[in-house]
Amino acid sequence: MWVIDIRHWLNKQQDGPAVPQLRLKVKKLAEIITWITLHDQGLSAGDVPKCWRRPEKKSCKGILIIRFEQDDRIHWFCPVCEDEGIIDGWQGLIWDMSKGTIH
Ligand SMILES: [Zn+2]
Repeated sequence: MWVIDIRHWLNKQQDGPAVPQLRLKVKKLAEIITWITLHDQGLSAGDVPKCWRRPEKKSCKGILIIRFEQDDRIHWFCPVCEDEGIIDGWQGLIWDMSKGTIH
């Protein structure tokens, strides 16, 4: 399982990827952060983010299962390809919609 401190992947302004190669990954992690922080407050968060893996070069169609860990890190799991990971360092980023930090 991956544990990602998303800040390590971000530019200085912390609002986009540090390098272009990380653009898609950062976009997906940002989607996950926005979704869970809205959903956690009972707010409409739109469609649940989908898996972005491409096992055997075909897009995985899994719908991610996303939840907070007890330490507030965000855990995602894809029930189809079983990809999973943990996002750390998300608090206060522009994608964090939790109370008190709406931008
Ligand atoms: Zn998947």
